[in-house]
Amino acid sequence: MSELRMSELVTELTAQAEKLDAADELAAKRAEFALDDAVYLDGNSLGALPANVPARVEDVVRRQWGSLRIRSWDESGWWTAPERIGDRIAPLVGAAPGQIVVGDSTSVNVFKAVVAAVRLAESAGDGARDEILVDATTFPTDGYIAESAARLTGRTLRPVTPSEVRDALSGRTAAVLLNHVDYRTGRLHDLPGLTAAIHEAGAYAVWDLCHSAGALPVGLDEHGVDLAVGCTYKYLNGGPGSPAYLYVRRDLQPRFDSPLPGWNSHAEPFGMNPSYEPATGAPRGRVGTPDILSMLALEAALDVWEGVSIDQIRAKSLALTDFFLHCVAAYVPEGRVESLTPTAHRERGSQIALRCSDAGEVMKRLIAQGVIGDFRHPDVLRFGFTPLYVGYGDVERAARVLGEMLV
Ligand SMILES: *Cc1c(COP(=O)(O)O)cnc(C)c1O
Repeated sequence: MSELRMSELVTELTAQAEKLDAADELAAKRAEFALDDAVYLDGNSLGALPANVPARVEDVVRRQWGSLRIRSWDESGWWTAPERIGDRIAPLVGAAPGQIVVGDSTSVNVFKAVVAAVRLAESAGDGARDEILVDATTFPTDGYIAESAARLTGRTLRPVTPSEVRDALSGRTAAVLLNHVDYRTGRLHDLPGLTAAIHEAGAYAVWDLCHSAGALPVGLDEHGVDLAVGCTYKYLNGGPGSPAYLYVRRDLQPRFDSPLPGWNSHAEPFGMNPSYEPATGAPRGRVGTPDILSMLALEAALDVWEGVSIDQIRAKSLALTDFFLHCVAAYVPEGRVESLTPTAHRERGSQIALRCSDAGEVMKRLIAQGVIGDFRHPDVLRFGFTPLYVGYGDVERAARVLGEMLV
């Protein structure tokens, strides 16, 4: 591209970005995060730090732990934090209160959910259901855990792509584990349609929301999802290793039979009874003592959602990814990258994945120039767009730096 043409493009696209930023009703939210001049497009891996978190964590450590000590289990609300914080995540994923419990990692919650889903199928009197379907394109941990869950429950694990699920469903299917958004390509799967198809086949649906919660509407209650899990350190900005969550639909809770029935899930945890009796409601999904420091950091991080609707987030997320694709098409030489993310809005999450021949090296250089995305083996540049703190100027700059690098 000629230098003149390039400078015209920059003028045109920066003007467009300025206009979009000026009209952005979420623009002020950025000030609620600790950010620098870098363009941070890795919130789909580790969300940025909300500015109020350090002081809250300091209070939890110094006052609640340091001074109140054991009293904090009651007086600082430590004991009930898993359900209380679950109820704060609930509106973001379309769940009424009392169905989400926070704790453990996503991997552990996948285990609880898949085993519990098979047990639900069994308790429905359907012992003939000997198969578990799992998304063959899943983030690997879900597949590993599903394999173990299948072995433990004496079922056969059948990996299928989400587009093959409908054909693979049968009277043999006990449970299906799917991702709402593909971590690699950013493809958004049809949660309402697939959940309905799974139910039609008499099976139970487990959805992994790691890449959708906090980025787009999920509608767990509306679509009758049975069980769901997700992490809180991506679009929910809970911090490194912040605890994950488990959703069990209210009417299934009495039949939810946890494979990890720790004392925190007991009806009377302090009764110290040698025999197990499960709690009612969401606490049934708990295991052991909650990781209070991470959990309360997450609780503080959720304050940034005050006054924000998930529909607003979705609208801006789509506008950001549209604008990024537009700028990439303008700045990056033809044929140098190929988007793996669907162009149709109904099939797009909140990230853009670009296939690029020397992606690992390109991402290193992008990061050195202040454009932070990530690299996924073998040839994918991944850019996540967090509407709470990414602006259109960031998007233009990221695409421009990428284009300069690929000439
Ligand atoms: C991020 C992610 C995980 C992470 O699992 P952890 O147990 O929290 O490490 C799991 N599944 C999917 C689909 C993810 O995107």
